[in-house]
Amino acid sequence: MTTVRYPWPSGKRSAAVLSFDFDAESGFLFREPEKARHSLGDLEERRFGPRVGVDRILRLLDRLKLRATFFIPGWTVEHHFEACRRIRDAGHEIGAHGNVHEALGFLDEQQEERVMREQLEILASRLGVRPAGYRSPSWDVNAWTPDLLKRHGFLYDSSLMGNDVPYDVPTTQGPLTEVPVQWLLDDAPLFRHVYGATNAIADPGRVLQMWSKEFAAMHAENGCFVLTCHPFVSGRASRIVLLEDLVTSMRRARGVWFTTGEEVARWHAGRAAGPPATRLRRRP
Ligand SMILES: [Zn+2]
Repeated sequence: MTTVRYPWPSGKRSAAVLSFDFDAESGFLFREPEKARHSLGDLEERRFGPRVGVDRILRLLDRLKLRATFFIPGWTVEHHFEACRRIRDAGHEIGAHGNVHEALGFLDEQQEERVMREQLEILASRLGVRPAGYRSPSWDVNAWTPDLLKRHGFLYDSSLMGNDVPYDVPTTQGPLTEVPVQWLLDDAPLFRHVYGATNAIADPGRVLQMWSKEFAAMHAENGCFVLTCHPFVSGRASRIVLLEDLVTSMRRARGVWFTTGEEVARWHAGRAAGPPATRLRRRP
């Protein structure tokens, strides 16, 4: 009998989460506020996300009959409300992703607390969403961040790379579930043009092969395949085709649980609490 490294519900062999970080202009505004005042070119590159990319992705998910997880900064909700509303109304999960995409390495604990309150307030008041999940902008996480997330009622974080199945990050108020990410499964380092960077724009065929291989190997390892894409990057025409081809090839494997970050986290937290039958027996 083969051992199961990580048990998934209903005897599934692995889990797959498609996640989209809907940054729009927010990351650029935070990192380069001076340049953002005059560089229409940089702003428009990112506006491709709300203008074109999001709806292409929504149509793709509709064709594939898949629910995905969108992490959205407060700024994006305020400035591209209609696109965010369409994501919500299509039934996808919405998680928090900073206010103006603040990379946490630049913030002290007090500033991080303030930014956390601001983003939650915007998600609640504009979209009526109380997010279960958080993804830190640029996957930048401070030592105190897990505690902060726990205090603000988050079920899970999805910004760390310490495993490739869900795991517990300790906090002073008990464990926070981590739904881990990894650079290999991020579209930005592969597809974004950055002057001076060593990476060229990747051929979608090569990326399909790379992601398919990573999926097949993770599936054999009972892993949790979390793909991170950005609407302004992966909303480009040939990359939408790549995503469709990827999911089609993943569906040929038996026992893949296509799901959301929240469902993975609920499964993981439920396992930690112990099977219901065991809990029942303990009752007097
Ligand atoms: Zn982001």
